[in-house]
Amino acid sequence: MVEFVLPPPATPAIPVAGGGAFPVRRVFCVGRNYAAHAREMGSDPDREPPFFFMKPADALVTDGADTPYPPATSDLHHEMELVVALGEGGADIAVADALAHVWGYAAGLDLTRRDLQGQAKKEGKPWDMGKGFDHSGPIGLLVPAARIGHPARGRIALKVNGKIRQESDLTHLIWSVSETIAHLSRLVRLAPGDLIFTGTPEGVAAVGRGDLLEGEVEGVGTVRTRIV
Ligand code: MN
Repeated sequence: MVEFVLPPPATPAIPVAGGGAFPVRRVFCVGRNYAAHAREMGSDPDREPPFFFMKPADALVTDGADTPYPPATSDLHHEMELVVALGEGGADIAVADALAHVWGYAAGLDLTRRDLQGQAKKEGKPWDMGKGFDHSGPIGLLVPAARIGHPARGRIALKVNGKIRQESDLTHLIWSVSETIAHLSRLVRLAPGDLIFTGTPEGVAAVGRGDLLEGEVEGVGTVRTRIV
């Protein structure tokens, strides 16, 4: 039995609708997975296979808690996303088998320090400090797929201070949930507890202290946080 030399950190977890908590292992995110968002970021959506980046699991913000405005940015952007939670892992998962690995779904926000991300892109540097900062992943209640099935269509939308900022439909995902899982499982061995933020539709923009962000994925749930 190993004795830790420091108290081990708590396991990050997301509350589950109806009770209990889902332990989070890793947080993967898909870039440019809606064509209109890829275009607004200056990319050609038709040529790219999916690509991935990560957030630390302890960057999640749960229970509708406030999100502190992060340091080192003056351009904090919202990205409203469908989040997939894996109950089973594996490598080289076939598209046809992928949804059987999903435990549930949530609505989440991939908060982004756009100025740092843009500078990193320009200089060919990693995105980590633009994407993976503290409190960069507000997320709503996790809903079991056993209850809601696997949403392939439905409105995905975000209001800031009551006004619609992003509005699209899951049918506009370039890479579906099952295709995304299959792709990612060829890059890493996926594990129970892994989350995948599946990408954001168009309409990303800056938020500031005091703004209330309220997102919804139809048939899944909501996410709510205030920037403070
Ligand atoms: Mn995103």
